[in-house]
Amino acid sequence: MPYRALISPSIGSGDILAAMTDSITIRKPFDSHLHLRRGSVLRAVTPYSAERFGHAIIMPNTEPPIDTLGTAIEYYGEIREAVPESAGGFDPLMTFYLTKNLTPAEIERGAVGAEGVRIYGVKSYPFGATTNSQWGYRNILEAKDVLKEMERLGMPLLLHGEVHLNDQDEEEDPYDGEKLFIADTLPRLLDTYSELKVSLEHMSTTEAIDFMEKNGKEGKLVATVTPHHLMYDRTQAFSGGYRALLHCKPLVKRREDRERLREMIKKGLPFVSAGTDSAPHPENKKFSSCCAFGVFNSPVAVEMYAQVFDEIGALDKLEDFLSANGPRFFGLEPDENKITLEKKDWQVTEAVVTDEGVNIWPVASARHGLGNETMRWRLRP
Ligand SMILES: [Zn+2]
Repeated sequence: MPYRALISPSIGSGDILAAMTDSITIRKPFDSHLHLRRGSVLRAVTPYSAERFGHAIIMPNTEPPIDTLGTAIEYYGEIREAVPESAGGFDPLMTFYLTKNLTPAEIERGAVGAEGVRIYGVKSYPFGATTNSQWGYRNILEAKDVLKEMERLGMPLLLHGEVHLNDQDEEEDPYDGEKLFIADTLPRLLDTYSELKVSLEHMSTTEAIDFMEKNGKEGKLVATVTPHHLMYDRTQAFSGGYRALLHCKPLVKRREDRERLREMIKKGLPFVSAGTDSAPHPENKKFSSCCAFGVFNSPVAVEMYAQVFDEIGALDKLEDFLSANGPRFFGLEPDENKITLEKKDWQVTEAVVTDEGVNIWPVASARHGLGNETMRWRLRP
């Protein structure tokens, strides 16, 4: 199915003057954390990221996982084929999954781009924590040889920072997973590998924010923030029954956590950047016995970030957060191309439909989201 915008006509008329005057032009954003899946889902969702972002760090938790240069090259090719001509500049930046098969030698080959595709980071998923996390280590600290080699090469470690199981293999409270990781695993990791470049992905709790505000350092220890953790809290996730479209790891947290996230991005810290964690699932997986982990936000991510930055009076910090801080960590320049966002009300009224006719519902869907949600910013077509 060809790419199409999911935008319905503007629903409000009160904002017409604002819509004429409120717009912002920024360098094309950089997504530090993106899931595209494979096959028909990949073909359906990639254009939405490619239209909004110049580059994206592509998550490797496909089935099978991306843990060799060969599989990364094949995956890179599949993504490039799904990028529409109109968004031809979009470049996927590949990563390895930290499985037990991943070797130091493969990381070195990936770091230098031995066969034309470079590897930009290694992603760690705690065993059992989220979609296709069954290949991860129980504890990241077990991956000694790989971590040493990454430290030597300057290869970033991208952390899903949650503890899922305790030492007795019992499940931890899922609302405490990030807190436990920050309290114990992360400090030990940073102590043991003092030169390792680390990105703490999709921060969601006050504990993670406190830790990063104290220890974050440009080029060394950075963090990403999703649009949905900035926009929603768990009161909304449970309003009127559990909201499947908001079900993700880490879970959206308390309102206080969301407010702290907003306060943090308002500070314009150079080590904090946008990582959408957009994670599509077909509707039969998303709405079946509730529900696959992952918020699909590609069609609205940049728009949601703009809305939040506007709400907190920090639109002047939006471009660094979206377009400069991410690439700098990975040793890249910000994108040369630009996008313009305009303040105009709209709603997500349609699903993205795969070429097999399967619906993938974006977060904030007027039908399946919280109900009748209105987006305040949109990408200028
Ligand atoms: Zn993710």
